[in-house]
Amino acid sequence: DVVVVGSLNLDLVAGMDRLPGPGETVSGNSYHEYPGGKGLNQAVAAARSGASVAIVGAVGDDTAGEFLRQIVVAEGIDDSWLATAPDTATGRALITVDRHAENSIVVIPGANATVRIDTGALPEGRVMLGQLEIPLPEVTAAFEHARRVGMTTVLNPAPALGELDALLDACDVVIPNEHEVDLLGGSTALRSRGVGTVVVTRGGEGVNVIDETGEFRHDAFPVTPVDTTGAGDSFCGALATRLAEGLDVRAAITFAAAAGALTTTSAGAVPSLPSRAAIEQLVAS
Ligand code: ADP
Repeated sequence: DVVVVGSLNLDLVAGMDRLPGPGETVSGNSYHEYPGGKGLNQAVAAARSGASVAIVGAVGDDTAGEFLRQIVVAEGIDDSWLATAPDTATGRALITVDRHAENSIVVIPGANATVRIDTGALPEGRVMLGQLEIPLPEVTAAFEHARRVGMTTVLNPAPALGELDALLDACDVVIPNEHEVDLLGGSTALRSRGVGTVVVTRGGEGVNVIDETGEFRHDAFPVTPVDTTGAGDSFCGALATRLAEGLDVRAAITFAAAAGALTTTSAGAVPSLPSRAAIEQLVAS
């Protein structure tokens, strides 16, 4: 039902008292490796929330790539369109976190930069979901193809970029956070570029939906956040699942907001993505 076009990374997370300055070495006090990348996170979010999912992307031919592919398969996601790029490292994010949870991050795209879309050989589905961690022309080619074959196209324009050119012309739904929507010139500008529905996520402040009938606000679910990593990815994946089931965006928002809220209540991105049962339980509460 949902085709995710995007990135897969191995996140290397080091904890320390304070972040090192240029030329400085500090001693860390924890180290973890997690699956990550917005494409993988959103594919897992869509799968756990009830969709059958295929991921289009690339890992490198290294142990990190094998690890990420195993996760894809274990989540029941179709990896037939997940390439292994020869002589290339899997994408990585080097994340340092200090005792105040302040972080600094270096992303090395690696295999994600090698993704090339063959529009003659893309998976079928009802919804295509993409982000901006693979080359922009490739996301654009995939969305233009999806439009031609009648799929609903959903873009999470993250990480934030100022100019998306032709990609916006191929988007039915765009889901930016407050920072990303500002960089794109605001929701009105996006609508006037032809985007049918703009969904602005505002963390604990909820969601604003702007479509042809006007603006509509949905409150966030009241939860006690522990770690907001992955909330946006969870929201996007769950929304795509409901759109693939035939709901419109307004009808799908409550489900997506519940998924986003649940993701903030435990640590990490992939580990905290909720099941459909958990989402439905929060919606019903
Ligand atoms: P991003 O992670 O991309 O910045 P947001 O922080 O806006 O995205 O989170 C996405 C969605 O997750 C929000 O619209 C909301 O539905 C849910 N969410 C995020 N933070 C909270 C929170 N503190 N309380 C409840 N829901 C939240």
